[in-house]
Amino acid sequence: METELFGGTREADLAGLLKRFFGYESFRPLQEDVMRDALAGQDTFVLMPTGGGKSLCYQLPALAKGGLTVVISPLIALMKDQVDALHEAGVAGTFLNSTLNADEARRRLAGLYNGEYRLLYVAPERLVLPEMLERLAEWQPWLIAIDEAHCISEWGHDFRPEYRQIAELRGRFPETPFMALTATATERVRADIVSQLTLRDPKRYVASFNRANLTYRVIPRNQPLRQVLDVAKRHDGESGIVYCGSRASTERLAKRLCEQGIRSVPYHAGLDAGTRAKNQEAFIRDEMQIVCATIAFGMGIDKPDVRFVIHHDLPKNIEGYYQETGRAGRDGLPADCVLLFNPSDVVKQGRFIDEKTDEHERTIARQLLQQMVHFAETSDCRRRSLLDYFSEAFTDKNCGACDNCLEPKETFDGTEAAQKFLACLYRIRERSGFCFGMNHVAGVLTGADTDAIRKRGHDQISTYGIGGEFGRDEWKAIGRELVRLGYAQQTPGGMSVVELTQDGRDWMRSKQPLELTRPVVPKSKSSERRPRSERAGEIKCDEMLFERLREFRLELAAKRGVPAYVVFGDVALREMARDCPATMEAFGLISGVGDKKKAEYGKLFISEIAAYLEEKG
Ligand code: ADP
Ligand code: ZN
Repeated sequence: METELFGGTREADLAGLLKRFFGYESFRPLQEDVMRDALAGQDTFVLMPTGGGKSLCYQLPALAKGGLTVVISPLIALMKDQVDALHEAGVAGTFLNSTLNADEARRRLAGLYNGEYRLLYVAPERLVLPEMLERLAEWQPWLIAIDEAHCISEWGHDFRPEYRQIAELRGRFPETPFMALTATATERVRADIVSQLTLRDPKRYVASFNRANLTYRVIPRNQPLRQVLDVAKRHDGESGIVYCGSRASTERLAKRLCEQGIRSVPYHAGLDAGTRAKNQEAFIRDEMQIVCATIAFGMGIDKPDVRFVIHHDLPKNIEGYYQETGRAGRDGLPADCVLLFNPSDVVKQGRFIDEKTDEHERTIARQLLQQMVHFAETSDCRRRSLLDYFSEAFTDKNCGACDNCLEPKETFDGTEAAQKFLACLYRIRERSGFCFGMNHVAGVLTGADTDAIRKRGHDQISTYGIGGEFGRDEWKAIGRELVRLGYAQQTPGGMSVVELTQDGRDWMRSKQPLELTRPVVPKSKSSERRPRSERAGEIKCDEMLFERLREFRLELAAKRGVPAYVVFGDVALREMARDCPATMEAFGLISGVGDKKKAEYGKLFISEIAAYLEEKG
């Protein structure tokens, strides 16, 4: 096994190693700086969005330097995939966990004592066992990388108490640099990671959270099954995740999709471990196209070619939404994020929040939900709204990849409509002495003939029936926009009512003109329009050849018992289907083709491509 092949740390040829092992031409932003720091013995804190390329930050230095790099990772299931992928690239990595039988574990330990491995993946709870600590002292890792470092923080969304024990390593290996990596952005969690891990004056690297290859859309949910099918069919045969609000709905939806001929499985924490693992595996190996899941699904998913993420129900907060949509398009190719929004979700979630016993928790949850609703209803750029949440400025006028930038919402002179709505709030209150819900107000405006309205005498007030130009749902949308503008407010809670604010009164008096978004009412309407011309990350290629290479890849992967993306990612296949390499040299230029994969797969793919070209004439 090669050890000091690549020389010292000072001028490591990182770019050369990048091409040789991973087949990539250039670094992603920040990667090289992080690597150089680690090689220089510096503690680092790396914040990059999912798909940003965190793994390479420790994998490449591990190759540049003889000795062992220890990677702490929370998920046993993921370790095997990562190590498989390393083997495919010709990198000597291994993992130790409870899934190994005694023989295999012994073999690996011997290899570790012999210095055969550059990388060792291990779960935190195992790492701090006394015998493991003794071994580590023997192996003397030169770098300790802590993946998913936010697991150490109670403020994160995925706290794991075992992570707390990692701090103990610091005392044992005072000279070894630590590298903490996470995709979780909140300031509080960042600070927590640095202090809990007792990082020493760490260099902090924060990558942009903009995921340029993701297109964000929010569409009114009216026929959810059809809307999911629409997206799935547009992504014929490509992987997708549908996040659902309840366990029951994941099962229902998966069943219905299957009935429609889309291979789908459910995933939620209520399934037994065996079924969960089986369903997840089927998705990763492309045997199933769609997984319908609760938010229990995702952390263990490194699948780079997820082409769409649909939210069937409204997420609780933007952080969750960002993490979940972030699982799409890790390979950098275009992917779609679709949120099916129905205002009834807001009411439902409000009820859940009301059930919380802790007042402080309730307040926070409400605020977070409010921000989520704002994101769903805004007519501003979705990307800007998201980045705003992470305190990152996005200054482009038009992002070119969200519904609001691609198909700007129509606006209209809403002065009269706003006057009518706000006046109605005023009159209702005047009549009854208290306020009513959005639905009731909309009913009064449209002149609905209901018991509730007659009983209160609201059919007698001057604003009854003055809003015939819009339907009830449209008035509710207008009402919500006025709430967003601050002219009215909705009280939180199950019996939520709408009331006029001081700003609303002031505006009514000022008679300023007001531009409003034309309400889009859930009607059975085609959910999405044609795809646009150029998308970030797009690689134009011969789609027929791409499909053929995908099948070819799947066969090879099945034979080797690895997921298809471990053989080659979609980026590599698309480049092959674009450049049609006919020689080994040309094949070597494809992104993702390192030395080992070139030797192993070059001839196979070249002849598959040649066969295709010949058939095509
Ligand atoms: P993260 O852990 O940050 O979510 P990964 O390390 O899984 O991201 O990387 C995401 C994808 O990007 C992987 O398919 C990886 O091989 C690829 N990748 C990473 N760095 C580069 C690079 N410099 N050039 C091209 N692709 C890269
Ligand atoms: Zn936009």
